[in-house]
Amino acid sequence: MAREFARKFYNSKAWKKCREAYKQSVYGLCERCGQPGDEVHHKIYLTPDNMNDPEVTLSWDNLELLCASCHSKEHMSKYDVVREDVMFDENGDLIRSE
Ligand SMILES: [Zn+2]
Ligand SMILES: [Zn+2]
Repeated sequence: MAREFARKFYNSKAWKKCREAYKQSVYGLCERCGQPGDEVHHKIYLTPDNMNDPEVTLSWDNLELLCASCHSKEHMSKYDVVREDVMFDENGDLIRSE
């Protein structure tokens, strides 16, 4: 799920430490369904712009421990939104609609 710009961050010691500590703080359980969870989700999604802001990347307030299925649901519901300002052209590339 890590995108290119975030890869470095996800491999950083600071993040690994942070996610482990956070995970323990919620007893390793998915915060939505209570099943064992293993994926720490950022409530404010990481972007190239907020990537260097520890208030976003490492703040526990912005983290949520999820299981794989709740995590993919979370991302699918956000990414599935039909946007009106973009559309696909005949090559399947995303373009801005006028
Ligand atoms: Zn879950
Ligand atoms: Zn996520």
